[in-house]
Amino acid sequence: MKVNDVELVISAVREDQYPNDPLPEIALAGRSNVGKSSFINRMIQRKGMARISARPGKTQTLNFYLINQQLYFVDVPGYGYAKVSKKERQAWGKMMENYFSKRKELKLAVLIVDLRHNPTEDDLLMYDFLKHYEIPVLVIATKMDKVAKTKRPSHLKKIKEALDIEPEDQIIPFSSETGEGKDEAWGAIRSFVGK
Ligand code: GDP
Repeated sequence: MKVNDVELVISAVREDQYPNDPLPEIALAGRSNVGKSSFINRMIQRKGMARISARPGKTQTLNFYLINQQLYFVDVPGYGYAKVSKKERQAWGKMMENYFSKRKELKLAVLIVDLRHNPTEDDLLMYDFLKHYEIPVLVIATKMDKVAKTKRPSHLKKIKEALDIEPEDQIIPFSSETGEGKDEAWGAIRSFVGK
């Protein structure tokens, strides 16, 4: 998809701040430092739009990016960062639950994992959390440029098995560095928003 127009409409902390137009929403989740901001920036062709995190785990807002006046990317705060207080963790959980349990506009969650490694315990919890709410999930295995071509299929297979991915969910290898996987990722996203 050619992205002509991106606007950060709101960084929401509460439900009443979510946009109230009927556009489809794609949520983006991943553990801190996995490469979520880089993924978003590559997908929307904007270098510094989604903040490349200097202080991981600190942004406790849902950032709604309106794309081509057609759909929203909803950037969810990263998880799994150790230096977060119990209070912050609880606030994060509450916000996640609020959004994912009842947001009608949410059509798909993109779960970003690292192609180099097996998913973390937090990755597994996040996948299960999303499936608990019956949300379709697109798994993006990023940083593929850091894995030798011949090793990529076995890494993908391991991640699929560890997450116990449901048959209807897709996994796509990706690199924010080279842009590989971008067209496939947009293809998958578009099939959920009907554009
Ligand atoms: P976030 O915390 O999940 O938003 O992660 P960032 O997007 O800030 O990325 C974390 C680090 O990984 C940064 O140093 C990025 O430059 C690097 N990074 C992210 N994606 C890729 C990728 O596809 N390939 C490579 N080589 N590095 C990446």
